[in-house]
Amino acid sequence: MDVREANYWLKTINEPLQGNEYSFPEIVDVAIVGAGFCGLSAALALANRGARVAVLEAETFGWGASCRNGGMVLTGMKLPVPTLVKRYGREKVQRMYAASLESIALVEKIVINEHIDCSFSRCGHLEVACKPAHFAAYADAAAEIEHQFGHRLRIVPKKELCDEIGSDIYYGGLVDETSAGLNPAKYVIGLARAAQQAGACLYDHARVTDVRRETFGTTNRFRVISSRGTILAKDVLLASGAYTILATPNLRKKVIPIGSYIIASEVLPSELARELSPRNRMIYDSKHFLHYYRLTPDNRMLFGGRAAFFPESERTVRRSAELLRCGMIDVYPQLRDVKVEFVWGGTLDFTLDVMPHAGTMDDMYFAIGFAGHGVAAATWMGAKLASVISGDRDDNPFSGISFPDAPVGLRSGHTWGLPLAGMYYRLLDLFT
Ligand SMILES: Cc1cc2nc3c(=O)[nH]c(=O)nc-3n(C[C@H](O)[C@H](O)[C@H](O)COP(=O)(O)OP(=O)(O)OC[C@H]3O[C@@H](n4cnc5c(N)ncnc54)[C@H](O)[C@@H]3O)c2cc1C
Repeated sequence: MDVREANYWLKTINEPLQGNEYSFPEIVDVAIVGAGFCGLSAALALANRGARVAVLEAETFGWGASCRNGGMVLTGMKLPVPTLVKRYGREKVQRMYAASLESIALVEKIVINEHIDCSFSRCGHLEVACKPAHFAAYADAAAEIEHQFGHRLRIVPKKELCDEIGSDIYYGGLVDETSAGLNPAKYVIGLARAAQQAGACLYDHARVTDVRRETFGTTNRFRVISSRGTILAKDVLLASGAYTILATPNLRKKVIPIGSYIIASEVLPSELARELSPRNRMIYDSKHFLHYYRLTPDNRMLFGGRAAFFPESERTVRRSAELLRCGMIDVYPQLRDVKVEFVWGGTLDFTLDVMPHAGTMDDMYFAIGFAGHGVAAATWMGAKLASVISGDRDDNPFSGISFPDAPVGLRSGHTWGLPLAGMYYRLLDLFT
């Protein structure tokens, strides 16, 4: 298939953000490693409280997963509620779920307060069942969520699914009206601009290569060493997501970097777009190797999935373009003759227990593990960590929960075992 590797969202940015030109300040209150949703949301919140903040980004602002994702601002967590309650207890899971709802409200608030033009819309999400058993399980899942958290989801039987989606391959659906959609590249650049306007200093092409503890009399400081120079900081926040590498070896051991890929079609006639997604939902299916898809604000079909498990490379992106196009046509045969204009890939930060985590590691603050839920969750976690760094009580339900290392073979920098994990999930999809 003849399609160039390019990220559609980046094509919608008219004015790229200029980083701070001048050299680093000698000392800051907080140095933040990574300018994605998490690092930038923390920078905005900290700067608004008057802290001196420097954000050091190895590439360009938002370069990581934050510019590459589907722009789905989703409620809930990856794991089923009974699993979560068994693992963490009811009270903690209620706080986790409340955080997932709060995180969408926070994104909305930032978008409104900072005047970020990123097509934010509370369009809701639709999960579609690939097997009858998956649909049968929706009733229990919805009842459990209403019982535990007072949050209501709507079950859509197969015969009513045509009101939600122009595809007849699914066995029913589950709608959550609270979820939203946005243009992630416009959102992350808007977030960066807001943080800069609030007083945070943002440095691009500043790859952090080491962080050392130094003692000056009775005070401890971190010396953050980067490709653009060094900076002293009272506190450090690691917000490097799936792209966490050598500089922070203990955090690196926790991350399982998994590739996810997206294609975007040419602009569709508005009638066809309405037929495919009459309510303009954020849609994903019920498989482990799932597909997720939506219309873009200019009516392209954006269709994503885990076509290859490995993080993105020229080879995996090329292969994904063909696989995803086949997946898209299985769902929507109406798109058989439609041109695919964009394909790109990105890396998700999974953890072994499939949970987001935050807290301190080697005395530095960190947040990681947002997997496919990071648009809202990473924004929320950044703001939450900012409040803890500023001295507020740490009431974050994701902080301090047990955090297993990723097995060798799956962790960042040593991913030779990923194809085996991929095979395991493909088998699960066959048999469950
Ligand atoms: C293809 C794809 C689709 C997705 N779809 C969705 C979706 O629809 N909805 C959803 O909620 N989530 C989705 N996600 C997940 C979501 O994008 C992420 O969870 C979120 O962006 C994580 O934000 P972050 O700030 O933690 O990390 P990132 O955005 O990855 O930012 C980390 C940054 O740290 C920088 N960095 C790393 N190491 C260093 C260093 N040593 N020095 C300086 N900088 C460094 C990197 O360059 C990077 O820019 C998707 C992800 C992908 C890849």
